[in-house]
Amino acid sequence: MNRTQLNIEPKITLLGAGPGDPDLLTLKGVKALQTADVVLYDALINEGLLTYAPENAIKVYVGKRSGEHAFEQGAINKLMVDYALNYGHVVRLKGGDPFVFGRGYEELDHANSYNIPVTVIPGISSSIGVPGLQQIPVTHRGLSESFWVITGTTSGGEISEDIYQAASSKATVVILMGLKKLAQIVEIFKEAGKKELPAAVVQNGSSADEKLVVGKVATIVSIVKKEKIEAPALLIFGEVVSLHPSFKTLINQYASIV
Ligand code: SAH
Repeated sequence: MNRTQLNIEPKITLLGAGPGDPDLLTLKGVKALQTADVVLYDALINEGLLTYAPENAIKVYVGKRSGEHAFEQGAINKLMVDYALNYGHVVRLKGGDPFVFGRGYEELDHANSYNIPVTVIPGISSSIGVPGLQQIPVTHRGLSESFWVITGTTSGGEISEDIYQAASSKATVVILMGLKKLAQIVEIFKEAGKKELPAAVVQNGSSADEKLVVGKVATIVSIVKKEKIEAPALLIFGEVVSLHPSFKTLINQYASIV
């Protein structure tokens, strides 16, 4: 039997899962999962979300954690299309928002080249949601008029040039995939005369093993080391970090360990 006889209608939903806590998935996301024939999910996804998909739906882990290569992007694109053609509705479940350093557009483009219809369901990006859960607003009247979301590591493995510009602005600067380059990033802020600027690092935001450290540009590297902060983590630089409810207490507490 061919596909038409089987009545398979290939379609793909690019679904943003949010930063980790399964309750931060949108209702629209839940509905998409309920009609999935296949779910392809990434490393930072809470596997509890898979229970929204029908029991007999195929669930495939296609994630890669830092340093480990589970699937190359080309292989994911191919799988996604193959599953859609053979099974119908593929939900491509991605961490945070699919279009914030999520390579979502590459997947959309690949699906388009096979004329497979794609629906995008945005997710809460860690870049805004994780600071927000910590009660750190990315903008605040009188403190920050804008925010940058920058990758610490470009596709070439380099530090992003944009960090130099952002560091010299008054904006809140949120850096993803930057933990390994923290020392280098901090140097850029120091060169921009920002050694007293408040800084925070959040590991595993919205998950049970969430960890937060706060300090200043001058101290954050030692604090991160001392507290053994690990990926996934995001870096927040900006005056808004001082609004964190425990900012003063934490700054004093760390003053003795740095
Ligand atoms: N599309 C995702 C980002 C993918 S890039 C989004 O919108 O959130 C992956 C990087 O995001 C990680 O290396 C880390 O810097 C950051 N990140 C994702 N989830 C996180 C979380 N729960 N806590 C802290 N950082 C997170």
